[in-house]
Amino acid sequence: MGEGMNDRVREDEFLQAVDSLGEWIENSDRILVGAGAGLSAAAGLSYLDEDLFRQFQPEMAARGYRYPYQLFEREKEGWPEAREWAYLVRHIHFVCHVFPPAELYRKLLAILSGRDFHVVTSNCDRQLVRTGFPRERVFEAQGSYDRLRCTAGCTRDTWPVKPVIDRLLPLIDPATFTISDESAIPHCPSCGASLATAFRSFEGYREERRRYEEWIGGTVNGSLCILELGVGFNTPGVIRWPFERLAYVHGRAHLFRVNREYREWPGHGGYAMVPVELAGRATSMPWDAGEVIERLYARCAVAPGAVPGTAAGEGA
Ligand SMILES: [Zn+2]
Repeated sequence: MGEGMNDRVREDEFLQAVDSLGEWIENSDRILVGAGAGLSAAAGLSYLDEDLFRQFQPEMAARGYRYPYQLFEREKEGWPEAREWAYLVRHIHFVCHVFPPAELYRKLLAILSGRDFHVVTSNCDRQLVRTGFPRERVFEAQGSYDRLRCTAGCTRDTWPVKPVIDRLLPLIDPATFTISDESAIPHCPSCGASLATAFRSFEGYREERRRYEEWIGGTVNGSLCILELGVGFNTPGVIRWPFERLAYVHGRAHLFRVNREYREWPGHGGYAMVPVELAGRATSMPWDAGEVIERLYARCAVAPGAVPGTAAGEGA
């Protein structure tokens, strides 16, 4: 019984917080959205998902790895280049080409459309771009998997990753999980050094960052809704800390911090708490980004009927 009561209190808190967020979205001059790994996880693309991992990295699963984050975090184990590339092309191929554009991102876009918004993301999975967010309103702060760069830094040139994926995928030897023909592994055409993903170091990156900074600069004279979705402590300097700072210095902003905890994976807490300095300017929402977006979306869908004078007509 006691638990039922707690559930009801929790449900009330949830509805109240989402309503407040919905009002800020509707009434603010601008909406700043930060999209972290927790948003893609809620959309089905989780780097902690063991089933998904077994599907797209079966050879790694057979070697005792359980989920992608383990591989991100692994110490360099002296993998040969042919293994690194097998792992890399499989990962990028799945994340960017096999996994479909997610419905949850589309719903987020529907909630924001018609409003002055900008999204900054630490994700490299291209979900924002693939689900139709206007390119000029997106800042992929960590870059993306799309291009390769020279690891020796001999040139600022970058090269598209897709032809490399197409060439190397069929060459993966499942028994050894290496690229069977090492001569197919790409190298810098200028100096011959190894190539790596050009996360932040491609030409369009500076332009994206400039647009984002200008947009932020333009928020000073109006009200600002700051919505943080699934941002933890992997790269807090990209979204989390700048958002806190903005909520603190901005006179008419409110930060909504949405992040659920992953109790089943130690080290991946949700950390939805907000600093005491932000009392009255921030709301902690320790829920799944998917639940919050679905609720907001449902709220949006009924919003036209809420316009005075049209309610009866719309409802009939
Ligand atoms: Zn080079």
